[in-house]
Amino acid sequence: MSLGITWVRDWVTESARVVAEHRVELITLDREIGDGDHGENLDRGFSAVMAKLGDLPPDAVPGDALKLVATTLISTVGGASGPLLGTAYLKASVAVGKEPELDGAALVAMLTAARDGAVLRGKAEVGDKTMIDSWTPAVDAAAAALADGRNEVEILQAAADAAAAGAESTEPLIAHKGRASYLGERAIGHRDPGAQSSALIIRAAADTAAA
Ligand code: ADP
Ligand code: MG
Ligand code: MG
Repeated sequence: MSLGITWVRDWVTESARVVAEHRVELITLDREIGDGDHGENLDRGFSAVMAKLGDLPPDAVPGDALKLVATTLISTVGGASGPLLGTAYLKASVAVGKEPELDGAALVAMLTAARDGAVLRGKAEVGDKTMIDSWTPAVDAAAAALADGRNEVEILQAAADAAAAGAESTEPLIAHKGRASYLGERAIGHRDPGAQSSALIIRAAADTAAA
């Protein structure tokens, strides 16, 4: 089994749906430790992506769709998360190249490149209370699942479970990057909105692969 353009389209579509569904929740989280716009930023970005997804040519490959997401998020999401996620999708698109079908190794390479792109852009480490606290456990779990001989769906499910746990792990932390870093100890007890949205997006990848 492998995952091609139909899956990437479904993943992007499901990402847009869950971001819209969780818009208020993400706004509420960002209101607690940021400026309250994260749900709005991502919803605007993914709505713009959905408006363009139909323009992809019939012979588009996964990398083309990931690049479309990247450029659209960079140009439409105003906040810090736009360039960070945009760079993640851009590096992911480069990692999968022109491959029409993604096997487990390609999925791990894609997730790793996405995480590395966000780190390159934002210089956050695990424990800084950012989206990286979702992405890095997801990458590690996906790589471990691949090494264990798991299939594509299982690799993405392992990534999604680890990302969800990673998002939860941001709650007791002090932030060292982004707006929440200005709050010092007042950030303690609040989940990072970007870690939460990244966990939702990674869950969407697993759910659509399993469907
Ligand atoms: P803004 O903070 O500009 O309003 P958003 O609210 O859309 O942007 O996004 C905030 C999220 O961006 C944070 O919750 C955090 O996860 C993420 N973030 C901020 N700075 C960084 C960084 N340097 N590295 C990684 N992620 C970051
Ligand atoms: Mg914000
Ligand atoms: Mg903002």
